[in-house]
Amino acid sequence: MQSHVETFHNFVGGRWVPSAAGETYELHDPADASEAIGRFQGSGVEDARAAIAAAQEAFAAWRSTPAPQRGQALFRAWSLMKERVEEFARTITKEEGKPIADARGEVKRALNVLEFTAGEGRRLLGDTIPSELPKTLIYTQRRPLGVTAVITPWNFPLAIPVWKVAPALVSGNTVVFKPASSTPLTAIALVKVFVDAGLPAGVLNMVTGPGATVGKELATNPSVRAISFTGSTETGRWIYGAASGTLKKVQCEMGGKNAVVVAEDADLDLAVEGVVQGAFGSSGQRCTATSRVVVLKGAKGPFMEKLAARTTSLKVGPGLDARTDVGPLSSREQLDKVMGHIALARKEGARLVAGGRRMAGGHFDGGFYVEPTIFDGVEPGMSIAQQEIFGPVLAVLEAEDMDEAMKLANDSLFGLSGSIYTSDLAKAMKYAEEAEAGMLHINSPTLGGEAHVPFGGLKQSGLGIREQGRRAIEFFTEEVVVYMDYTGKKRDARFI
Ligand code: NAD
Repeated sequence: MQSHVETFHNFVGGRWVPSAAGETYELHDPADASEAIGRFQGSGVEDARAAIAAAQEAFAAWRSTPAPQRGQALFRAWSLMKERVEEFARTITKEEGKPIADARGEVKRALNVLEFTAGEGRRLLGDTIPSELPKTLIYTQRRPLGVTAVITPWNFPLAIPVWKVAPALVSGNTVVFKPASSTPLTAIALVKVFVDAGLPAGVLNMVTGPGATVGKELATNPSVRAISFTGSTETGRWIYGAASGTLKKVQCEMGGKNAVVVAEDADLDLAVEGVVQGAFGSSGQRCTATSRVVVLKGAKGPFMEKLAARTTSLKVGPGLDARTDVGPLSSREQLDKVMGHIALARKEGARLVAGGRRMAGGHFDGGFYVEPTIFDGVEPGMSIAQQEIFGPVLAVLEAEDMDEAMKLANDSLFGLSGSIYTSDLAKAMKYAEEAEAGMLHINSPTLGGEAHVPFGGLKQSGLGIREQGRRAIEFFTEEVVVYMDYTGKKRDARFI
């Protein structure tokens, strides 16, 4: 039994403050729900408005700070984060549940994004464009938008906020950041890094609390000029609609149902490793997780044998135990959702070949652990083939040939990432040309991406300009064209 639970605050206008209504909520460790990790502000509309006002006030000075200096602030944040890698990793594991090695990987990704984006302060380039007229200079400028909102999910509580906040700031915007309600501790640690890096008051504000109040206010408040959102397709769709009322710029990265195609000529050991990593790493709670595998008939028997053996060898346990391959789900809500999907798959006639149960006994009783689960005999119409599960559950479908495999892989409303395992160049190229997903992998898992490379999905997985890399700056700036006439004479202005 814990005696004292620390209370954490919002960060508004450079100060740590309680919510106006004084409401708080408590969070617990997903590996052991008897362990409280803190109390956080259950903020409301008033708190969101105060943060927007603070961001608005700070905008003029931040915007006129030279971009390379804004980049320097990000470099200082990068350097401080580098000193705090272990602290960040443990915080992520403590509140989200992922194995500590995955958490360290997430911190590394955040560092890479910060490092790359800091340099963008020296590269906020415009174009010079040749004019149809003599003695006329045409050039473009990239200008910040103003107050921007960053709304993030719980599954990458550090990397996703960083890949939104960093390009927003370096472009000269101010930010109101609303982290997922279940992962505010990592968000607070991130804000502290920026504070210690010397970011001026009001440039970055953070408000914890429900999407229905804080998130809704950010999506509808006329002073917010843009929203960068990552989360479920359902929420993204709502935000897109709500933000249209005030014509905000919107960027949504949403759900996935990512498929791996395994051809007859694939290196099956490599394919099994890739599928297992993709499906069960971070307990399947990645937007790029492998949720479906489409196996060519000729490879099916040996592939399934190897897949089942490798899956049952995975060690499930608390994220802080270095031997753990698969950690708990991040919350009771996630646990209930995933168990519901498993029950539905059984009801619809999919064949369970591994896992399928909540883990019980000993330390498993206190946490939200589910066995890595595989269903074979999945038909395209089943819910397990169509709905995002966001847990350690894999659906196996069989295809006669590559044409059918592509049809099955593309049979989804989502289109985030995908992969093929093959040793045939023609099949790899067919896949690269036809697969309907924003990030394609050949002979590697559906996961991840690099910090300087565009990231995002097609179909109902992504909306708006891509995140990360140089594209991120496009979202957080707008382009202004300047025509400068230096003839000093009156011109014939009969052209359009
Ligand atoms: P979610 O949609 O429930 O919540 C995401 C964020 O939106 C949270 O901060 C939440 O409080 C906020 N929110 C909820 N309702 C809102 C509203 N009406 N207005 C404004 N904000 C609101 O998603 P989640 O459960 O936190 O995250 C899991 C989802 O995120 C999965 O679908 C996953 O695929 C997706 N995801 C996508 C990517 C990607 O890059 N495509 C990356 C990670 C996660």
